[in-house]
Amino acid sequence: MKNKEIIYKNLNIIKDNIEKSCIKANRKIDEIQIVGVTKTIDIERINILKNLGINNFGENKAQELLEKYDKINNVSWHFIGNLQTNKVKYIIDKVELIHSVNSIKLLEEINKRAFYINKTIPILLEINIAKEISKCGLLEENLPNILENIHEFKNIQLNGLMCVAPFVEKPEQNRKYFRKMRNLFVDIQGKNKDNINMKYLSMGMTNDYNIAIEEGANIVRIGTGIFGERNY
Ligand SMILES: *Cc1c(COP(=O)(O)O)cnc(C)c1O
Repeated sequence: MKNKEIIYKNLNIIKDNIEKSCIKANRKIDEIQIVGVTKTIDIERINILKNLGINNFGENKAQELLEKYDKINNVSWHFIGNLQTNKVKYIIDKVELIHSVNSIKLLEEINKRAFYINKTIPILLEINIAKEISKCGLLEENLPNILENIHEFKNIQLNGLMCVAPFVEKPEQNRKYFRKMRNLFVDIQGKNKDNINMKYLSMGMTNDYNIAIEEGANIVRIGTGIFGERNY
C-alpha cells in the first residue's frame, strides 16, 4: 500500500475508536484533539496527514522540530519530549503548547524567554504518574510546591497536565493511572489562580488512547497508530 492509503486507513481506525470511547464514556467526540506524533517521520508523510485534516503535530526533539517547522506551514507544533533548558530559546516562538514541563528550572527558563518575546506561553506539567525510574516528569508529591510558586512565572499559563503511562501489555492496566491524572487535574482546576486555566489533559498514546479517553483525556498523542512502526 502507498503511504497515503496507509495513513488514511489508520486515521479512520483511530477516529472510529475515539468515537467508540466517547460513546462509552458519554463524551462528545469534538472534545478530543488528536496530536499526530511526527518524530522520525518525513515531511511527505506529515503533509499527507495534514491534508487529511490533522493540524496538530508533536515532536520530542528541538532540532527536529526546527527542521520541520520551516517546511510545513499553517500547522501547530506541540513539544512533547524532555526539553533541555538550553533549547528553550529555539522553540519558544514556534510551539502551540509545551506538554512536557517537569521542573522549576524549566519553568524559569520558559518564563524568561517568553518575557523576552513578550508572550505568554501555554504549558502542561508532565507527571510521572506511575513513578517509573525510567521516565521524566514530576512526582505528584512535588506538585503542590510548583502550584504554590507558579504565579511568579507571569509569562507562563498552566493549561493542564500530561503523562506518558507505562508500557503495558493490556491498556486496561493503565486505567488506574489515567484516573489518578484526572483526579489531579480536577483538583488543580478547583484552585482559583491567576495564571492557571486547566483545559487540557494530554494522555493516551497508540497503545492506550481508548482507556485514556474513557478516563477524561482531551488530547491524545498518536504516532505509531497513524504512521506505523518508526524506523530509528
Ligand atoms: C512517541 C511519543 C508518543 C507517541 O507514541 P506512539 O506509541 O507511537 O503513539 C506520544 N507521546 C510522547 C511523549 C512520545 O514521545
